Amino acid sequence: MALQIYISGKYYDKENAKISVYDHGLLYGDGVFEGMRSYSGKVFRLEEHLDRLWDSAKAIWLQIPISKQEMGTVVNKTLEINGIRDGYIRLIVTRGAGSLGLDPNRTSDPQVICITDHIALYPPEFYEKGLEIITASTIRNHSAALSPRIKSLNYLNNIMAKIEGLQAGCVEALMLNAKGEVAECTGDNIFLVKKGKLMTPSLDSGILDGITRGAVLDIAREAGIEVAEMALTKHDVYIADEVFLTGSAAEIIPVVKVDSRPIGDGTVGPITLKLTKRFHQITRE
Ligand code: PMP
Repeated sequence: MALQIYISGKYYDKENAKISVYDHGLLYGDGVFEGMRSYSGKVFRLEEHLDRLWDSAKAIWLQIPISKQEMGTVVNKTLEINGIRDGYIRLIVTRGAGSLGLDPNRTSDPQVICITDHIALYPPEFYEKGLEIITASTIRNHSAALSPRIKSLNYLNNIMAKIEGLQAGCVEALMLNAKGEVAECTGDNIFLVKKGKLMTPSLDSGILDGITRGAVLDIAREAGIEVAEMALTKHDVYIADEVFLTGSAAEIIPVVKVDSRPIGDGTVGPITLKLTKRFHQITRE
C-alpha cells in the first residue's frame, strides 16, 4: 500500500496528496509546521510540539481549524495507518487558498497536512565521528522582524545559510544573530561544553525553542551537570571542549570541527556521549 498522507480530514496516496497552487503556504510561505519523531509507537513530547505549533500559529494570526486533541489523534492515526512505529512526523498548517495578493483575509480553508515517514538525516558515521561545520555569513532572522521562535513555512533564512554550508562541504552551518552572538544551526540548536559545564544560547539569542534542546537540558540537570542558557560568541565555540547539535530529526549529533578549528581534541567528547546515551534510553525505553 502506498504511503498515506493526511490532508484536512482525508487520506491520500503519496502521489495524489496535493493542495492548491493558490495556497498561501506555497505562494508566500504563509503557514506553520512541526517536525517530530515517534519511538516504538510513541510520539516524543507530542504535547510540547502541539503547543509550539499553536504558539507559532497564534503569532501569525492563523486559526488552526481543529483542536489540539484532534491534531494529536491525527498524528497517531496517520502513524498507525502507515504502520510506522519508529519514524518522523511532519505536521503542516497552511493559510489556505486565496487570491494572488498577500491579504490573508482573502484566503479560506487552511490545510492541515500530516506526513509520516522514515527519516535518516545523516549517515551513522556522522554520529560516530562528528560533523565539521562552518559559520555562515547569513545572519539569523532578527527577532523583531520574524521571530525564530515561530516555526513558519518560510525557511529561506536557514536555507541561505544551509547553502553556504553545503558549498563549503558541510551539512550544517552555524548562524549568528544580528549582535554577532551564536544563535543556532540551520535546523538544529547548538550546545557547548567547557570545563564540564553545558552551555547553550538562551531564547534571547534569537533561536527556535527546540524540544530536543529542552529534553537535553532536562537530562543534563538530572545528571547533575551544570547548565547555562546564555549569550555565547564564536570564540566560546572555538575554545569549547565539546560541541553538539540537537533537533527532532537529527537527535543529538556531535560537532568536531568549526571553521577549520578542531573542537577539543577533535573527537566526540564524554559529556556528549553521556547525554546521547541517556537521550536514547529515554526515547527508546
Ligand atoms: N532550530 C531550527 C531552526 C530548527 O528548524 C529546528 C528543528 N529542526 C531546531 C532548532 C530543533 O528543534 P527541535 O528539537 O524542536 O526539533
